[in-house]
Amino acid sequence: MNPFEVTKGIFMVGGPEMTDGRDACVYLLNLGELILIDSGAGWSIDQIQGNIEKLGFDGSKLSKLILTHCHIDHIGGAHQLRKRFGITVYIHKLDAPPLETGDPVLTAATWYNTTFPPTSVDVKFNMSKEVLTIGDNKLICLHTPGHTPGSISLYLDREGERILFGQDLHGPILKEFGSDLTQWDLSTQELLKLDADILCEGHFGVYRSKKEVTNYIRSLRVQYKVE
Ligand SMILES: [Zn+2]
Ligand SMILES: [Zn+2]
Repeated sequence: MNPFEVTKGIFMVGGPEMTDGRDACVYLLNLGELILIDSGAGWSIDQIQGNIEKLGFDGSKLSKLILTHCHIDHIGGAHQLRKRFGITVYIHKLDAPPLETGDPVLTAATWYNTTFPPTSVDVKFNMSKEVLTIGDNKLICLHTPGHTPGSISLYLDREGERILFGQDLHGPILKEFGSDLTQWDLSTQELLKLDADILCEGHFGVYRSKKEVTNYIRSLRVQYKVE
């Protein structure tokens, strides 16, 4: 699969069908600044960079890498991106320690039969809601614990559309990851209230209408028996 524009200025540049089966989806936001949401599992940084360039952007201009949580399919490329481009790495403070220590269980590295090198984090989110102002855009970062203690979701409103980035909403909810179903229930209720037009998801791609987004999140809630 080739990299593609999800909606104006927002692109998918990596993912299980695009770069490596082990990668979660990687989104590129051109908001005047180039921002990446998640980094893939780490084996496909050259391909991700190639995809960014295929779309006409300069990889060396990447400024921020926002990690949605501490699992290797999302964070595995962080140390390489930091080294290669001097990118600023963001993650919620509750998910930062596994990155910083290279914890094999909490990063899910053992699940992927690999190791994760301790990686420095530049900025730690620590509020339930934080706003990154980038040019004329406001990228809202919400603490949505459940799958992991420091999972975040992001959204922004552009040209009448609300675009939500919600990776690994599907779980799994596992004790070894520090998952919490009660928190997940509350987090997914908050995400439903956003009434997003587009959901950029972590493993299953893009959902493209309010109805599709709502149905997807509600189907997960039914699956986890909280609805
Ligand atoms: Zn995960
Ligand atoms: Zn994942």
